[in-house]
Amino acid sequence: MKKREFIKYSGLAAGALIAAGCTGSAGAGPAVKTQPRRKGSGVLKLTYWPYELQLRHVFTVATNSRTTTPVVLTTIEYDGVTGYGEASMPPYLGESHESVLNFLSKVDLGQFSDPFLMEDILAYIDGIMPGNHAAKASVDIALHDLVGKLIGQPWFRIWGLDPQKAPVTSFTIGIDTADVVREKTLEASAFRQLKIKLGRDNDREMVETVRSVTDVPVFVDVNQGWKDRNYALEMAHFLAENKALFIEQPMPKEQVDDIAWLTERSPLPIIADEALQTVSDLLPMKGIYSGINIKLMKCGGMDAAYKMITMARQMDMKILIGCMTETSCAVTAAAQLSPLVDWADLDGNLLISNDVYEGMIVTDGKIVLPDRPGIGIIEKKS
Ligand SMILES: [Mg+2]
Repeated sequence: MKKREFIKYSGLAAGALIAAGCTGSAGAGPAVKTQPRRKGSGVLKLTYWPYELQLRHVFTVATNSRTTTPVVLTTIEYDGVTGYGEASMPPYLGESHESVLNFLSKVDLGQFSDPFLMEDILAYIDGIMPGNHAAKASVDIALHDLVGKLIGQPWFRIWGLDPQKAPVTSFTIGIDTADVVREKTLEASAFRQLKIKLGRDNDREMVETVRSVTDVPVFVDVNQGWKDRNYALEMAHFLAENKALFIEQPMPKEQVDDIAWLTERSPLPIIADEALQTVSDLLPMKGIYSGINIKLMKCGGMDAAYKMITMARQMDMKILIGCMTETSCAVTAAAQLSPLVDWADLDGNLLISNDVYEGMIVTDGKIVLPDRPGIGIIEKKS
């Protein structure tokens, strides 16, 4: 595993490391099977290091193109058990290696002696600084992984969810020339739903090219690329005729009245992505959008995502769970929640060539949750 090549940063002085019996992050190999255990006497120790994800293809959406994504990988160790976490920072959300490392340097988990006090710990994390949602998610995910391992159960079981209800996941086709789109669509033949990025000047060509290869249902993500509501409504009808299931963030989030107008008339649900981040953003979405796209990196982790799902259901809104380009760590953490949602777009780990973990897999297009405690990942053998 490559992480040892990176400088590691620790939230505690070396002297405060828990006893020598600690397995540290040497979790490579078979599934970590921990037995349920009583409250330990250890100290919570946060470790983190930067990593750069290499994308398999240049990834183009309405607003930008890129070939790498910076992430920060974390662990929290306690009582000889290691939980894994991750922050992923696509440039448009404003976080970076520098900002996440700065945030994590301020985290002092040494003040907590019981990882099960998750509400207290996560409230402390949230209160360190506003924003910084990916940095917060990297602690939240590692804490969930740790606590699940201490209990000896995966989170879908702790939440009482049936893994058979995990949905199929889409695979994303970025904006490109017809030849490349045709090739990528053919490569994605194992998936039962695709996500198509639109919002540049070749919307109809993108759709028609995909449709020339496959008739699987598609999610459409415009990434705020349309400015004119009449064009958006015209496209909504065109997409409905082309087996689209919904349209994500069709117009800039600031065009609230235009989006509400579109949602009222659109034959397809209109889903908020860039327009919302975390729990406190959800209430104002009612009446403007039909549903929301929840991502751990936007909302701050599994705890906030679970709360958003509960609240969105009360508001009778549709729920998509999505991801950034991420390793299997954050993707599998999100997948734990997937039995609760309408649609999943959890392909971020499949878009990179240097994943360091193994976790959820996709079989016949469907998410298969690992039967391992915590978030269910193991380090990938190099
Ligand atoms: Mg989106």
